[in-house]
Amino acid sequence: MRLADLKNGQVGIIIRVRGRGSFKKRIIDMGFIKGKPVRVIKNAPLRDPIEYKLMDYNVSLRRSEAQLIDVLTQETVQQKAAVPVAGSEARTVQKKRFRNRKRNFDSDGISATQPKTDAGDTSESRRGPGRAFKTIRIALVGNPNSGKTTIFNNASGSRERVGNYGGVTFEATEARVIHGGYIFSITDLPGTYSITEYSPEELFVRNTIIQNRPDVIVNVLDASNLERNLYLTTQLIEMNCTVVAALNMYDELKKKGDVFDYDTLGRMLGVPFVPTVGPKGEGMSELFAKIIDVYEHREKTVRRINVNYGQDIEKAASLIETAICDSCGLPGDISPRYAAIKLLEKDADTERMLAGICEKSENIFNLAKKLVITIEDELKEDSQTLIADARYGFIAGALKETYQRGARPEVTVSEKIDYILTHQLLGVPIFLIFLWITFQFTFSLGRYPMDWIQAGVASLSQFTAAMMPSGLLRELITDGIIPGVGGVVVFVPNILILFFMISLMEDTGYMARAAFIMDRLMHSIGLHGKSFIPLILGFGCNVPAIMATRTLESRKDRLLTMLIIPFMSCSARLPVYVLFISAFFPAYAGSMLLMLYLFGIAVAVSSAMLMKKTIFREAEVPFVMELPPYRIPHLKNTMRHMWERAKEYFKKIGGIVLIAAVLIWALGRFPAREPFQAAGHASEGERLEQSYIGRMGKFIAPVIEPLGFDWKMGVSILTGLAAKEITVSTLGILYHAEKDSAAENESLVMKIQEETYASGPHAGQRIFGPLNTLGYMVFILLYIPCAATLVTIKRESGTWKWPVFSALFSTTLAWIAAFLIHQVGLLVR
Ligand code: GDP
Ligand code: MG
Repeated sequence: MRLADLKNGQVGIIIRVRGRGSFKKRIIDMGFIKGKPVRVIKNAPLRDPIEYKLMDYNVSLRRSEAQLIDVLTQETVQQKAAVPVAGSEARTVQKKRFRNRKRNFDSDGISATQPKTDAGDTSESRRGPGRAFKTIRIALVGNPNSGKTTIFNNASGSRERVGNYGGVTFEATEARVIHGGYIFSITDLPGTYSITEYSPEELFVRNTIIQNRPDVIVNVLDASNLERNLYLTTQLIEMNCTVVAALNMYDELKKKGDVFDYDTLGRMLGVPFVPTVGPKGEGMSELFAKIIDVYEHREKTVRRINVNYGQDIEKAASLIETAICDSCGLPGDISPRYAAIKLLEKDADTERMLAGICEKSENIFNLAKKLVITIEDELKEDSQTLIADARYGFIAGALKETYQRGARPEVTVSEKIDYILTHQLLGVPIFLIFLWITFQFTFSLGRYPMDWIQAGVASLSQFTAAMMPSGLLRELITDGIIPGVGGVVVFVPNILILFFMISLMEDTGYMARAAFIMDRLMHSIGLHGKSFIPLILGFGCNVPAIMATRTLESRKDRLLTMLIIPFMSCSARLPVYVLFISAFFPAYAGSMLLMLYLFGIAVAVSSAMLMKKTIFREAEVPFVMELPPYRIPHLKNTMRHMWERAKEYFKKIGGIVLIAAVLIWALGRFPAREPFQAAGHASEGERLEQSYIGRMGKFIAPVIEPLGFDWKMGVSILTGLAAKEITVSTLGILYHAEKDSAAENESLVMKIQEETYASGPHAGQRIFGPLNTLGYMVFILLYIPCAATLVTIKRESGTWKWPVFSALFSTTLAWIAAFLIHQVGLLVR
């Protein structure tokens, strides 16, 4: 029977994983191994993917992937084993297996054991205050979502992004702290399930460990899901790393009523364990103390152990080991045994490494290949699976001794919540409602502070006008800086609220559910559910969203996702929407805003489909994604997120927006005003048209006239290249400049509503109406991504080809869309 054939709630025992290399490897690393029970939690709204529970965690697989896993149903197993215990179904099977492994473990599970060093507590490690501090380089390594970044932030006082789903961290971040007389240089790494080469991130972690050789690796473990988390630990041990295990989420373990003798497990593994609770900072000083002890070789727990892989593999491994020792100049810190096991796992990256440093690497590879074939023939299973099985067996044996599960509720709280949130029928509507609430909030709650800031800006403007002597400087401030920067500052509350809502989605764990719900849809456009998370993050800012695509395993998927992210309305476009919606669509503000965002998504989706059919044809990548339990967000964390992002935004206002404001003002102010005043009758509006900026506007006017835009809108489109909120600054400055048409202190909203053409065929008519306003908003949504986004696309894709493509593609689309809106609108009217 196939895993995919099981019904909701049914349990199957895995008997075999079939399928291709990387998929198989990943899924085995995640614990899909022979003998493990898997429960079907539910099908996603469109019946694909499917959520499963394995060990102590929930994971989603696509139906097509679940087809590749052979299972026996619980009933069959019970008949065969004649064990009628319900509820502990699979555990019976597991137990048997544990016992087998246990024997292994007792007799020869721990083979060579040697104390790492006998340096002990030397006088050198005791420093007086006058001595220079020693630096300990540590790296945080662990499964995705185990709390590495939380610990990192806590330890270093940093403010890196934390979120309740895998793949939040995509770069190594470093911080230095002084603690207990030592300097700690801490590196936070992306999460990884295994030291393989499955995704770019995993390879990155592996290379960091091998090349930088941190003094101590802090292996952050999710204590509520030990079995799978320890899998990585066994590999770190194998790599000869000096490891301290942070038993994080210890609060969740206790809450479940589990009992865990981690000291004993630590002694078995030769790795000291320190329980921690990341968000509360519990256990942090113990963790530091332990790291110092290990670094100074004072820790008795530390010793070298080997996982026993069973006779056949062990024999093969030692043959390869000898061959490697004979002909390779391995760097001292790479263990020959590790390299041997990796070769038996058919690890291409290790082959590449050995090829560089071994004399007759070909001979070694041939030997390894021969041995693999022999083993696979003998044991009727591929070597990767055998090795993974042995590791998991080893862990199960070790946990058997030290870990007692408390009683688990039949259905966890998260599963109850998910009953509604990822419900077959309700899942998608709830997601849409959630988005709508987000935008409604953004609008309605943002309204009040916006009015206050607006009033503040207006009085500041009056104040400076009254206080400063007239002259260029006063003009610069009252006509350039205040309307330009002020025009953008008023939208800060809206942006904060939007960021707050996104943070909430991230911190609770709903983000992973959104990906789960949307996978089927994404799949049908040729993308991956996981691409959905960067897309949503794009609502905040496109730049980090593009960086977040690093969690995608396939390069083509990454590129494609990067190229459609700019169609997700980032917060910089929000001011444009808020301005024009307030002016022309106040009655359905929230819905209007949602519609614009959905339109962006629709364009993204259709472009993806188009590109997938043309330039990005490629085979599917499996959808293996963890669904972490829901966690109550820590308000501190959420607020910090919001604040960090707000700070970025303020920096932008103080930097590029300010510069642009000054420039735009200057271009509009010159050539000098005097000749016009002397002429007497020329209005300020006519003068503006003669200025540099006016000439620029006139120059592009023919291109945008079919869209129903006037030249000032055209100018704002140009200036928006630097950053999209500058479009609003520009409008602020340009309409402010035309003082004769509007009262001094009117808000920009009112000015826009009243603005009329000064000359030309439409003289006297209103410039803005619902129609061209809508077109303008759509144009701003779609056209060329801002400079920062383009640079990021270049950095992440490695060539200028893609940002150039993105710029041309999106601007063309924007023009066509705005053109259609205007022309069709005129016909319908
Ligand atoms: P990373 O992917 O390993 O960097 O994990 P994060 O640091 O982003 O944390 C993942 C999630 O787990 C976040 O929602 C944290 O708030 C939460 N978290 C981290 N440590 C603990 C802990 O000790 N206890 C509990 N209950 N939650 C934690
Ligand atoms: Mg992280």
